[in-house]
Amino acid sequence: MDLRFTPEETGFRDEVRAFVRASLPEAIRRKMVEGRHLGKEDTVTWQRILHRRGWAVPHWPVAWGGCDWTPVQQYIFVDEMQQASAPPPLPFGVSMVGPVIIEFGSEAQKRRFLPRIASLEDWWCQGFSEPGAGSDLASLKTAAKRDGEHYVVNGQKTWTTMAQHADWIFCLVRTDSQVKKQAGITFLLIDMRSKGITVRPIVTIDGGAEVNEVFFDDVVVPLENRVGAENKGWDYAKFLLGNERTSIARVGYSKERIRRIRQLAAQEQADGRPIIEDERFREKLAWIEVELKALEMTQLRVVAAERQRDRSKPDPYSSILKIKGAEIQQAISELLLELVGPYALPYEAEISGTNEPPIGPDWAAPIAPTYFNWRKISIYGGSNEIQKNIIAKAILGL
Ligand SMILES: Cc1cc2nc3c(=O)[nH]c(=O)nc-3n(C[C@H](O)[C@H](O)[C@H](O)COP(=O)(O)OP(=O)(O)OC[C@H]3O[C@@H](n4cnc5c(N)ncnc54)[C@H](O)[C@@H]3O)c2cc1C
Repeated sequence: MDLRFTPEETGFRDEVRAFVRASLPEAIRRKMVEGRHLGKEDTVTWQRILHRRGWAVPHWPVAWGGCDWTPVQQYIFVDEMQQASAPPPLPFGVSMVGPVIIEFGSEAQKRRFLPRIASLEDWWCQGFSEPGAGSDLASLKTAAKRDGEHYVVNGQKTWTTMAQHADWIFCLVRTDSQVKKQAGITFLLIDMRSKGITVRPIVTIDGGAEVNEVFFDDVVVPLENRVGAENKGWDYAKFLLGNERTSIARVGYSKERIRRIRQLAAQEQADGRPIIEDERFREKLAWIEVELKALEMTQLRVVAAERQRDRSKPDPYSSILKIKGAEIQQAISELLLELVGPYALPYEAEISGTNEPPIGPDWAAPIAPTYFNWRKISIYGGSNEIQKNIIAKAILGL
C-alpha cells in the first residue's frame, strides 16, 4: 500500500492551504487556536465562505453541491482545514441529516432542505438521545402518533447540541411499540418553531451551555416531513452514524494543538527553565506524538481502502479512529493543563463571560474549561465502551 501523495494531490493540498490562509477570518482562527467558545455567527460566517468557494459539502453528490473528489482529496481537505484551525461546517446538517436526505429523502425534501443545509441558512440539531436511551438508542420512547396527514409527537430528547440555535431538528421517534424495538422507529424532520417545543439548557462542568433538553408536547408534524418509510428509521440512523469517517479522529486539530504545546512550553518557565526542557514533560509529549502518527497512518490506510467499502453498512474501522482520536485529544488536554500549572485552578467563567481581570496569562484561561469540556469526546457519537463492543463483534468476530 503506497501512502504517499501524488504530485496532483500535493498540488491540491497547496490550493486548499492557500485558500484557508487567505479566507479564514483571523478572529475565528484565534478563537479556535486558543480554545475559546465559538458563537453561532462564527460557524455561519465560515461555512458561508466555504459555500461561496463551492467547498461547504464536498462529500455530497455534485448535483447537490458536492465536489466529486477522490477519498484522498477529501482526506487532504479535512486535514488542511483542521491544521489551519478552521471550524468544521455544522456536522448536524452537512454530515448527518444531509446525507440521509440525499440517500433516503423524497425529491421535494432534497430540493427544500439540501441547498439551505449547504449555505447554513437552516441550522440543524440532532434529536436521537433520550434520558433512557443513549447507548441503548433503540429503547427511545418519544412517540409519534398518526393523525390524518400529520404525526403528533410527544416526549423528550436530551444532550441536544446547539438546539438553542436550531431551525430544524431531525428526530428518531417511536411509531410502533408492539414490535422488536428497532423495527418501530421513524425518522422525522421537525421545525423547531412548531408549537409545543421547549428547549431547556443543560449547563456543563465548564460553565458552557452547548447541550439542551428538548421537550415535545403535542407537536404537529406533517407527513411530508417523514424521511423514507414509516418504521424504517433505524436503518437510516445506522447509515447516519456510520457515515462520519475521515474527520472523526480530528488528527489535523491534534497536530495543530501539539505545535501550540511546543510553542507554549518553550515560552513558559518552571523552576527557572523552559518547560519544554523538563524530561517528564518531553516524554509525555513524545508519547502523544507517536500515538498521533500511528493514528494518522491508520486513517490513511482506511482512506486507501475507501473505494472498496460497502457503503450500505457502518464501517467498524471508524470505531478505532473514534477511540484513538478521543484518547489523544484528551491526553493533549491533560498536557495543556500541566503546562498551565496553578493557573488552571481559578474558575474563570470564560464561556459565560466575566468582568474580573483574568488571573494568569491570557492564553491560560480557556485551558481548564477545555480540559473539562473534552471529557465529552469519549462519550458523544457512541461512547468508547460502545465502540469497543463494535470492534469486538465486527472486527474481531467475538
Ligand atoms: C457533549 C455531548 C453532546 C451530545 N450531543 C448529542 C446530540 O446533539 N444529539 C443526540 O442525540 N445525542 C447527543 N449526545 C448524547 C450521546 O450520544 C450519549 O451521551 C451517548 O450515546 C451515551 O449515552 P448516555 O449518556 O445515555 O450514557 P449511557 O448509555 O447510560 O452509558 C453510561 C455508561 O455506561 C457505559 N455503557 C452503556 N452500555 C454499555 C454496554 N453495552 N457495554 C459497555 N458499556 C456500556 C457507557 O459507555 C457509559 O460509560 C451528546 C452527549 C454529549 C456528552
